Amino acid sequence: SDVGSQEERVVTEEEWLQKWEMGNIGFHKEQGHPLLQKYLDVLLNGRSGLRIFFPLCGKAVEMKWLADMGHSVVGVEISEQAVKEFFSEHSLPYCEEPVAEISGAKMFQSTSGNISLYCCSIYDLSSSIVGKFDGVWDRGALVAVNPCDRQRYASLMINLVEKNSSYLLVTVSYDPNKHKGPPFYVPESEIQSLFG
Ligand code: SAH
Repeated sequence: SDVGSQEERVVTEEEWLQKWEMGNIGFHKEQGHPLLQKYLDVLLNGRSGLRIFFPLCGKAVEMKWLADMGHSVVGVEISEQAVKEFFSEHSLPYCEEPVAEISGAKMFQSTSGNISLYCCSIYDLSSSIVGKFDGVWDRGALVAVNPCDRQRYASLMINLVEKNSSYLLVTVSYDPNKHKGPPFYVPESEIQSLFG
């Protein structure tokens, strides 16, 4: 098929935690992603002081960039190690607190208040917990979602954005029959059907 043998594959939360523990995080870009720089104007669209969401954020350095530009950043990441590495690698003091609405979840917030990272599964979030966003940076997020969860992910994301929001999505174009990842192939046609 056009998605090769990826359709049925699943990467479990446990496997993601192990990747972080083993330092098997080839997806992390220390220098940040050139496409965010290239399309920053599209994301901001002349606006300032935006609320920007980073789904499946890892320790993406772009969160620091956008916070330094005066925006308010919210991320969600299943690995607590990733979240803690983010704050320590940028020498940002933070505090952590439980999230009343989600059992077992914690929210890590920079002392300055402009970066809030939820440590839980993205599927536990809703707009009543995190509010709505003016912008989304989706890199290594939709492509990391298990194919069986894509519809659920897209519905959630649509729910988390304001009417006049910008959603930057990075996917990778390749022959899924020749390459196994990164982690899943998302064809353009599927993006159309998920997001319209
Ligand atoms: N967007 C980041 C990380 C991409 S890798 C970047 O650009 O560097 C995908 C990340 O999603 C991993 O850090 C993994 O731990 C996290 N993750 C996987 N499933 C998740 C889920 N259900 N909820 C929250 N985070 C998840």
